[in-house]
Amino acid sequence: MARIRSIGTKPEMRIRKILSTSGYRYRLHVKKLPGKPDIVMGKRKLVIYVNGCFWHQHPGCKRQSLPKTNEEYWSTKLRRNVEKQWMDIEELKRLGWNVAIIWECETKKLDSLKTRLKEILSE
Ligand SMILES: [Zn+2]
Repeated sequence: MARIRSIGTKPEMRIRKILSTSGYRYRLHVKKLPGKPDIVMGKRKLVIYVNGCFWHQHPGCKRQSLPKTNEEYWSTKLRRNVEKQWMDIEELKRLGWNVAIIWECETKKLDSLKTRLKEILSE
């Protein structure tokens, strides 16, 4: 449970694979942008966050439920995560970036993930 969100998580790998097989170019974890977004497509001024449903408390998602132990600790920690990302997104928008969020649970089914990406990229 105490795992830190790591680089190259599975949901992110699924997205990267679709993007690169479709010929899209992107950069990863760009440090100079607020919140070090997971996927950055500079030409399109588009950043994609790949959010873990638990770590970013996906609203209404069954994966967001808190552990029974240390509930206080987790709710504080996760609320900070959510707020931090919200501020990062505001900052990115202010800098003229488009921001898309793909939730971990949206990456499970390949077809719907492809559709989701197509939507994001045609916006
Ligand atoms: Zn979810």
